[in-house]
Amino acid sequence: MSRKTKHAAAALAVREPAALAPARGALAPNERHLRFGDRWAYAPAPEQSDYLQIKSRYQLFIDGKFRAPHSGKHFDSINPATEKKLAEIAEGDAHDIDLAVKAARRAHDKVWSKMAGRERGKYLYRIARLVQEKARELAVLETMDGGKTIKESRDVDLPLVAAHFFYYAGWADKLDYAFPGRKARSLGVAGQIIPWNFPLLMAAWKLAPALAAGNTCVLKPAETTSITALHLAEIFQEAELPEGVVNIVTGARATGQALVDHPDVNKLAFTGSTAVGKMLTRAVAGTKKRLTLELGGKAANIIFEDAAIDQAVEGIVSGIYFNQGHVCCAGSRLLVQEGVFPAVIRKLRDRISTLRVGDPLDKNTDIGAINSRMQLDKICELVESGVQQGAELVQPRLRLPEKGYWYPPSFFTGVTASHRIAQEEIFGPVLSVMTFRTPEEAIERANNTAYGLSAGVWTDKGSKIFKIVSKLRAGVVWANTYNKFDPTSPFGGYKESGFGREGGVHGLAPYLALG
Ligand code: NAD
Repeated sequence: MSRKTKHAAAALAVREPAALAPARGALAPNERHLRFGDRWAYAPAPEQSDYLQIKSRYQLFIDGKFRAPHSGKHFDSINPATEKKLAEIAEGDAHDIDLAVKAARRAHDKVWSKMAGRERGKYLYRIARLVQEKARELAVLETMDGGKTIKESRDVDLPLVAAHFFYYAGWADKLDYAFPGRKARSLGVAGQIIPWNFPLLMAAWKLAPALAAGNTCVLKPAETTSITALHLAEIFQEAELPEGVVNIVTGARATGQALVDHPDVNKLAFTGSTAVGKMLTRAVAGTKKRLTLELGGKAANIIFEDAAIDQAVEGIVSGIYFNQGHVCCAGSRLLVQEGVFPAVIRKLRDRISTLRVGDPLDKNTDIGAINSRMQLDKICELVESGVQQGAELVQPRLRLPEKGYWYPPSFFTGVTASHRIAQEEIFGPVLSVMTFRTPEEAIERANNTAYGLSAGVWTDKGSKIFKIVSKLRAGVVWANTYNKFDPTSPFGGYKESGFGREGGVHGLAPYLALG
């Protein structure tokens, strides 16, 4: 039997029936997390959502007011867990972008850049406090619009959104101290384009440092997750942020393109896919626009034989599964030292069979809905390629809700560096496991990717951590933990993961001209 056929046979043996098209079935409410072979199931614990005031139609936020789009067109925003329409979102075009940039320019030149830093800081503190006050409501909206679990939006996204506004509020009157000996000036109008995986958090990452530095903004949210950005706009109104300081123009690719091409934008900040990031780089070349890019990743978690294995497996699980794998820095590759490979695989297999996939609003859910049909198709296509190329797929048997977009927690063994699942970003709850013998081999394998966003190291030896970390080509490396964020620490990538840093004092620099 050829090596390839042998792998394929093994894949069939390991793969549960119909694993690539996970079983769907109408589950009774108290069955939503029941798995085959289970001895118990959690009672449903859904977060309340009926008090939410979701508008049937959301308009653009330009010059401090909500206004209909020039095109008169709107598109639907769908709840990916139910496939039901949540609201209609305005589709902004080049005319709307022009209005937004003009409003931002006026606000920059006449108000915001002239305002004392301590006054700008007061607005940011006010926004941070209002976000805290409305955190529960915003978390529920985020979950309904994007499909992520309420555990994540409530406990991770919203606290970090508020923390970013608080943190950068503190810098607004200290710009001269941030860069000693240099004179810091705002750049002007910042065009900011964000993806769907952390809608509010990405908005906070972009807006808070830009505003603290005295810039004004035109933000373009992702087309599948625009609702919370527009609720943030209401917070800006409540905080009495001067008109035009933040403008939010919703829409898809063409709306983003119009922002990129607008001649009066001084700085572009983009978070999204590497493919679009490359297009933006070409579009901006030869202009005076500044650019920072936060792009994709293919992070490796490295487990050494001396690691605390249970702790490491828990870290791996939270790094790839608890967020549906919808994180640019998700640990989507796992490198395991050969001696502990059987133990790690056994524990990983056991652990993923306990994960609860289902209603994202349920407080017990571990894995929510995949953000869109398109993203689900992308995951299925890449998983299929892994099986075709001979890797072995392991998935627990799950019954998934009838409606909505879902993918079960999965991992591949028998992965080689040339497999697409080892090289391409899956952006779903799918892990590619490989082995290594020596630290040098681990470093070589971890760096063998076009990306360089993040990595994780699991070992009992502090000296080994320092040695390995200094050789990994990744912007962020976590040791004996994973996916920990703090507004004070910079985040960003190498290679095709982009350039520039967000977070910390480093995140201010791209929004300033330093004399
Ligand atoms: P995407 O690149 O398709 O879209 C991102 C944003 O860009 C959206 O708002 C979209 O409407 C807009 N856009 C699309 N085409 C455009 C164009 N031609 N011109 C201007 N704007 C355009 O990415 P996605 O699928 O929405 O997001 C997933 C990707 O984002 C993944 O690759 C992920 O790794 C990456 N990401 C990176 C980070 C990071 O910090 N490095 C964080 C989150 C997500």
